[in-house]
Amino acid sequence: MNVPFVDLKAQYAGIRPEIDAAVRGVLERCDFILGGAVGEFEKAFAAFVGTKHCVSVANGTDALHLALRALGVGPGDEVLLPPNTFIATAVAVSEVGGIPVFVDVRPDTFNIDPSLIEGSVTERTKAIIPVHLFGQPALMAEIAPIAAEHGLAVVEDACQAHGASIGGRRCGSMGAAGCFSFYPGKNLGAYGDGGAVTTNDGSLDERLRLLRNYGQRVKNVHDVPGVNSRLDTIQAAILNVKLGHLADWSRARARNAALYEEALAGIAEVQPPPFDRSAEFGHVFHLYVVRAQRRDDLSAFLHERGVSCGLHYPTPIHLMPAYRHLGYKAGDFPVAERAAQEIISLPMFAELTEGQIRCVADAIREFYRR
Ligand SMILES: *Cc1c(COP(=O)(O)O)cnc(C)c1O
Repeated sequence: MNVPFVDLKAQYAGIRPEIDAAVRGVLERCDFILGGAVGEFEKAFAAFVGTKHCVSVANGTDALHLALRALGVGPGDEVLLPPNTFIATAVAVSEVGGIPVFVDVRPDTFNIDPSLIEGSVTERTKAIIPVHLFGQPALMAEIAPIAAEHGLAVVEDACQAHGASIGGRRCGSMGAAGCFSFYPGKNLGAYGDGGAVTTNDGSLDERLRLLRNYGQRVKNVHDVPGVNSRLDTIQAAILNVKLGHLADWSRARARNAALYEEALAGIAEVQPPPFDRSAEFGHVFHLYVVRAQRRDDLSAFLHERGVSCGLHYPTPIHLMPAYRHLGYKAGDFPVAERAAQEIISLPMFAELTEGQIRCVADAIREFYRR
């Protein structure tokens, strides 16, 4: 049995008439840029996240970099972030001329370790970007008071955590700004690129609306040198349809995670992800990441068996060539570095079947018994 890592075709097959009608509607109206569906989606997504405002943009990286810029983070400012995230989190800091300063993570959830934050704060630290990695919320209740004490803006990277919640609050509603990606493979994915910033701050909302549209308040009046970073109306129409299914898909992902845990029980070499079971959507399982002994051999074996797996992420950002100039070295962030050697992402999507999950677990069991 071949098990894909994600299956976007299976998802489309389940919602095809709704999607086709939504796209056709935009084609008929021809309101391709900042059309009706964009405003509708922004309203619906703000309500979903639990914020007053949502500004859609062209992708998740722009959501992060425009949020930083709108918050006044600029050249020479230091921004704290974990080293084990998608490169975009750091790239967004670089885009505003800021300096990424990495903070190691917790060994259980792989999210930023609040007890290590203060040790990395300097006079130049302006913001912190907690990443809700793999769909599991960072410890926001512990991060918020530290940020407040040092005057740091909290920008949530919720690009993997649509609908995830902690303490009854959704990711993207707890910081100054919440940043989302609608890349096709994300839990809420467009059929192309897309992104959004959520916020409760009306003036931040206004600045972001200016920045994403050439700094233009009214036609031909440009207040600031903004950028062109808008969500296409067609993508917004697709996202409007998909947002209505997201709760069901998140429940299906959680069910699949529970099935994995059952199926992997008894394999001592594999450690499933711990998460808070008391909260619905406490983890929305964008990725199902386990720690595994002899990870590289396991990965090759699963590949041979037709099971597609991923590594998120094989190299922490502080050890990548792109950030060599920051002067970090191996050993600086031991928890993140060790995780990079041990983690493997198993297939995870809403339409994954129990049979496919068994097949993945059986292959893993077979590998360790050989
Ligand atoms: C996907 C992702 C981004 C970037 O989103 P794009 O839409 O691809 O620009 C940023 N941070 C994290 C953690 C992501 O997973």
